[in-house]
Amino acid sequence: MSKQPRVSLAIPVYNEEAVLPELLRRTRAVLDSIPGGPHEIVLADDGSSDRTLELLEGAAEEDARLVVIALSRNFGHQTALTAALDHVTGDVAVLMDGDLQDPPEAVPTLLEAYQQGYDVVYVRRVNRKESWWLRACYYLFYRLLTALSSIQLPLDAGDFGLMSRRVVQEIRRMPEHHRYLRGMRTWVGFRQIGIPIERAARRAGRTKYSPLRLLKLASDGIFAFSIVPLRAAAIFGATATGVSILYSIYSLYVKFWLHAPQGFTALILVITFLSGVNLFFLGIIGEYIGRVYEEAKGRPHYVVRQVVRQRSLGSLATTPRIDVAEALERTGTDYD
Ligand code: UDP
Ligand code: MG
Repeated sequence: MSKQPRVSLAIPVYNEEAVLPELLRRTRAVLDSIPGGPHEIVLADDGSSDRTLELLEGAAEEDARLVVIALSRNFGHQTALTAALDHVTGDVAVLMDGDLQDPPEAVPTLLEAYQQGYDVVYVRRVNRKESWWLRACYYLFYRLLTALSSIQLPLDAGDFGLMSRRVVQEIRRMPEHHRYLRGMRTWVGFRQIGIPIERAARRAGRTKYSPLRLLKLASDGIFAFSIVPLRAAAIFGATATGVSILYSIYSLYVKFWLHAPQGFTALILVITFLSGVNLFFLGIIGEYIGRVYEEAKGRPHYVVRQVVRQRSLGSLATTPRIDVAEALERTGTDYD
């Protein structure tokens, strides 16, 4: 590729006032070092309650490369990332976290791979700096997800990575609300490559992922990319039926040939076990139904309070995927 691509960094930030000055310093330094341009940094402020937005607005006034998308409230990491991605205008977009765990200095390396013809250059995490039990959870989760998933999701890849414009456009077309961007990126296809980069420890501030939120992200990964849990219900049900048929034959044999009295123990075991299994799979089916319901509502993914930037680039930025007026009109005519 002869022409230098324009780079857009897409960064979600939520209560990151402690890291923000360094984040801006380092990302701007990296963009300075990349030829071509103009490059841009699109920051989605995910309803921060500290001074994050104020600092961002101040920085955007001084630097034309900064675009700040202020969301109306906290929508969560993946949605904030989506908001940033929806507003990038460059030839390539680099997704990264705002806490400097994803080193901005890796961007030129990602660009090299892009220039060799890859549409997606994702970062494989080596030497995570988290606690050992969190690392163990990540390890198990990625392997479980790969085993269950309908597509080949790369192991140990986070959201940090580069996407070409056409991949970004495909992701923008995806209407789902439970977003698992690293999976959606894999789903798009084209040529993808993973490069190993060490993941730094969080620079300052605290992680916004409680174990519960991590679990939610993990379940988004599994339920959005796999129907194996649904199939498991059928397989398990069939197995249980088979076993109970065998057991019935045995009980009949004992009753008529051995005339032995049968205790309740087996009965109790079977009933409690099977009702447990029943409830478990009802829960799984409920999970999918809940997701179908949420998607069926067709709400926009996020609400933008304000876009802060120096120049007016309004025409270049995208509008949210879902046109509310049009959606309402459609519902209206459906009821006629
Ligand atoms: N983040 C966000 N909204 C949230 C939670 C997090 O935009 O509701 C941002 C946060 O500011 C950071 C990135 O998402 O830039 C990753 O969050 P965090 O570092 O807390 O996650 P972890 O690295 O611990 O998985
Ligand atoms: Mg982090």
